[in-house]
Amino acid sequence: MAYYADVIIDISKEKLDHTFQYKIPEDLAGQIYPGVQVNLPFGRGNRMVCGFVTEVTDYAKYDADKIKEIDSIVKESVAIETHLIALAFWMRKNYGSTMNQALKTVIPVKQKTKAKERRIICLCAEEEAAKEQLAVFFKKHHTARARLLEELLVHPEISYEIVTQKLNVSSSVIRALEEKGLLKVRLESEYRNPVGHIERKEHKISLNGQQKKAVEEILCGMRKGVCRTYLLHGVTGSGKTEVYMELIADVMKNGRQAIMLIPEIALTYQTVMRFIAKFGNRVSIINSRMSKGERYDQFLRAKNGETDIMIGPRSALFTPFCRLGLIIIDEEHEGSYKSETVPKYHARETAIERAKMSDAFVVLGSATPSVDSYYRAKAGEYKLVEMERRVEGRPLPVCSVVDLREELKCGNRSILSQKLQDLIAERLEKKQQVMLFLNRRGLSGFVSCRLCGHVIKCPHCDVSLSLHKNHRLLCHYCGYEREAPSKCPVCASSYIGGFKAGTQKIEEIVKQRFKYAKTLRMDYDTTRKKDGYETILSAFSNGEADILIGTQMIVKGHDFKNVTLMGILAADLSMYAGDYRAAERTFQLLTQAAGRAGRGEAPGEVVIQTYNPCHYSIVTAKDQDYKAFYQAEILARKLALYPPVSNLLFMLITAKEENAAGYAASYFAALIKKAQIPGLSMIGPASAAVGKVKDVYRMALYLKHMDYGQLVTLKDRLELFLKNREDMKQIHVSFDFNPMNG
Ligand code: ADP
Ligand code: ZN
Ligand code: ZN
Repeated sequence: MAYYADVIIDISKEKLDHTFQYKIPEDLAGQIYPGVQVNLPFGRGNRMVCGFVTEVTDYAKYDADKIKEIDSIVKESVAIETHLIALAFWMRKNYGSTMNQALKTVIPVKQKTKAKERRIICLCAEEEAAKEQLAVFFKKHHTARARLLEELLVHPEISYEIVTQKLNVSSSVIRALEEKGLLKVRLESEYRNPVGHIERKEHKISLNGQQKKAVEEILCGMRKGVCRTYLLHGVTGSGKTEVYMELIADVMKNGRQAIMLIPEIALTYQTVMRFIAKFGNRVSIINSRMSKGERYDQFLRAKNGETDIMIGPRSALFTPFCRLGLIIIDEEHEGSYKSETVPKYHARETAIERAKMSDAFVVLGSATPSVDSYYRAKAGEYKLVEMERRVEGRPLPVCSVVDLREELKCGNRSILSQKLQDLIAERLEKKQQVMLFLNRRGLSGFVSCRLCGHVIKCPHCDVSLSLHKNHRLLCHYCGYEREAPSKCPVCASSYIGGFKAGTQKIEEIVKQRFKYAKTLRMDYDTTRKKDGYETILSAFSNGEADILIGTQMIVKGHDFKNVTLMGILAADLSMYAGDYRAAERTFQLLTQAAGRAGRGEAPGEVVIQTYNPCHYSIVTAKDQDYKAFYQAEILARKLALYPPVSNLLFMLITAKEENAAGYAASYFAALIKKAQIPGLSMIGPASAAVGKVKDVYRMALYLKHMDYGQLVTLKDRLELFLKNREDMKQIHVSFDFNPMNG
């Protein structure tokens, strides 16, 4: 059988999908796989060019006789593209996508759009000469020219926009002065180095004993090759960032480079400054607000060896460092590390795969590790490193739980419990700051009783049911359906229903109750504008407000020294999100939120308001006892065979017609059943969590198996089946392995 290879010739171009097919000569058989760099004859003149293999197939796309042969394998150094293409191939296989989608994810693409440039007007005449000329302009009443020159004598460099907009000087005037040799217009690419202008300050902190021990354990493990992946479990405020920086410094000392992933939301000025203070302009940053072109610029700098450290969200994982030595994933439990677009990769797993290829290491850090990672650490797959105390002997905040059912019985129907009101008043008195966190995550409309806390759950799947139209309650896993009750089935009270509250409403309530307090609100509305997020954070940090009210945005990694009280208004909202990770998310959010209080000299206090004070995710968060939480949670996962104990493949089947989607889902279900794969269990089909989006009908099917590979094989078979079925052309199926929000 003949083998063929798809080859891309020019990686930097927009058209990554433009591959060329070549024959693999017999003497190279077995040595050609995705990523390998090859020499090949190209174009009419058959000039020898370099290309990268993206895929190997056993069929010819064109007339087999006309397909040229690969000449040879490029022997010298392994190009960074080799790693990235191999990584794309791995992602395609493990998460499901086309090779093209995978390539577009890992390879930075140069865009035709010009990089954003700033025009800067600079004075270039000598001061004396400029002053003489200024006098001339005044005399001739050339007021605009005089105005510009006068300004340039004070500020020798001014941005073009300021000159034309604020100084009201037209471009023809600028040109006239340029022709006289008085000024020059310089072009500056704005994002060449977004952090280049920040001064490097002396980095003062020296590690404490606990931090030193953690660094030692990790470095020692790396040197001895004990493990590729390290899980740093350190309580909030234990100084994990300093540990990361120490590790990076060591990596750099050995001539290697580092990538540090942090959740977008925690990518604040504060964090960035800490890195720049230590590493100066060896640090590069990308964020999602940058255009593709700007990101490409950063990646180019990395590829050219102009930087050694890349900090950014998920996509920074694909920084083309040639000497990659370390990948750090901070707040590794964060849901944003899972891609929501195809390929639906998880940055943690992908980082480990990339590290394997470059002989690098991975350090995962969190105060509340994901159940997945902790499970792997316990199984010995990762090495666990712990930091149990906060820096400088600061105590963990004191947590108390307020039972909202009791409040209701006492006649308090406000969202603020009496205890929380008292504590807020006390902090305002002391001029300390307060944060109020509204846990809105997963507000999928579960139904609960405000008097006894009972939540209506699916009898089959152990997740809460979601309220839909016409008072129907629905399970998003198996499709179980029932009428929403009008009375609580446990205590018969009629205080049963969905949970409704918004940050805006809460701000009103707080303002009513505390007339003289200044409040700030941080939610989707107030942060939509560019920099809205930073503005609110820095205003709060500067003490411009007493109370910050917000959604999960406020709980991530911020370090406000004057915050001594954190109120968690409705801990329950994330507890019944209708998916198997709901309890984990709740514990994480509560612990992270609690961690925001008492980071300065004054100790912190946390109030958790809930209808379910006995739920293990609340009890263990109150005690900030991760291990106790993990024990309870892993037991639940074992019983129900949810990840990480087992693996879950989520199939989303969509179609424009309701019947078609439903029919296809049942068809697949029957097909899978018939295959009788040992150890496979299936849940559904059911209408997906959001059943209909933009007039497209969505059906869900869940498949569980202990062996991830079995699910991959099943996915491949289903894809092949779909490809060959004419009557299923209007059906779209997407696959998501171990989903985060499913
Ligand atoms: P974590 O990420 O573990 O929550 P951080 O790394 O943000 O904690 O550190 C919390 C605070 O403690 C920061 O303000 C940091 O500057 C400070 N810090 C860290 N290590 C030390 C140390 N060894 N000595 C004094 N302060 C430290
Ligand atoms: Zn009840
Ligand atoms: Zn169910």
